[in-house]
Amino acid sequence: MKLTGLHILLTYQCTFECDHCFVWGSPRQGGVLTIAQIRQILGQARQAGVEMIYFEGGEPSMYYATLLAGVREAKRIGFRVGVVSNGYWATSTEDAVEFLRPFAGLLDDLSISNDLYHYSDEQINIAKNAVAAAKELDIPVGEICVAQPESADAASSKGQLPESGSAVMFRGRAVCKLAPRAAPRTWDLFTSCPHEDLRDPGRAHLDPLGNLHICQGISLGNVFATPLAEICEKYDADAHPVCGPLLAGGPAALVTEYALPHEEKYADACHLCYAARLALRERFPEILKPGQMYGEGLQE
Ligand code: SF4
Repeated sequence: MKLTGLHILLTYQCTFECDHCFVWGSPRQGGVLTIAQIRQILGQARQAGVEMIYFEGGEPSMYYATLLAGVREAKRIGFRVGVVSNGYWATSTEDAVEFLRPFAGLLDDLSISNDLYHYSDEQINIAKNAVAAAKELDIPVGEICVAQPESADAASSKGQLPESGSAVMFRGRAVCKLAPRAAPRTWDLFTSCPHEDLRDPGRAHLDPLGNLHICQGISLGNVFATPLAEICEKYDADAHPVCGPLLAGGPAALVTEYALPHEEKYADACHLCYAARLALRERFPEILKPGQMYGEGLQE
């Protein structure tokens, strides 16, 4: 497996607790990278041939100094660099310009969440302020807008950041909060993974604990134990106990391979996949982790 992009989840913490969040981001979440750990990860990423680094979360700017240091270091090494943010800090365009000014000249992409999960109709200009400020500073900027569950279309966003206008995917908190609003379909129709290229994904996510995720909650290894290049080299998609069945026949094959109990209908392929993985966590604790990706450990 060859990675060209690495998406670093700087933290699982977030200012918000959105219904559609894949990673259970929340103010009550734990887990954040230090600057020293980011330095180590960037060194490994360079060895592995990665070209583009994204910093995301959670909300990465909750740890502003760490984020800025990480972006500077990534740029210094020669990566193209992006940041994904919910833009909570853009209370006015003027304030947003001050927030973003240190990133000017460093970022190749800034992706701002702008949808009804993050902001009500009245608040939506907060994201607009962030976009306007980025443009003022010549920072390349785009918006991420995830649709409501009633309009889910499983065909979009394969292997990429969600593009503006993409469908909700029923993983993480979306399973609990949004799946009941979608039109369900029979479980054995979900015979392929609609969003990720599990053989050669091009990019992967690295969480604050060091786990490398091919899809959120499916870890291929931990970079604090095994170098990224080695994890990538040793990955055998077809022999992998979770990705193998998913490649052979989608989430439905995961259910049949391990004879898992199941409901009759699910909102989408990811919903069935997530439910199957929850049932398999005890069997594959080193793969289906960490607890954060499955909604565990939220502090009250
Ligand atoms: S089907 Fe499973 S592996 Fe594929 S995108 Fe959905 S949750 Fe990820």
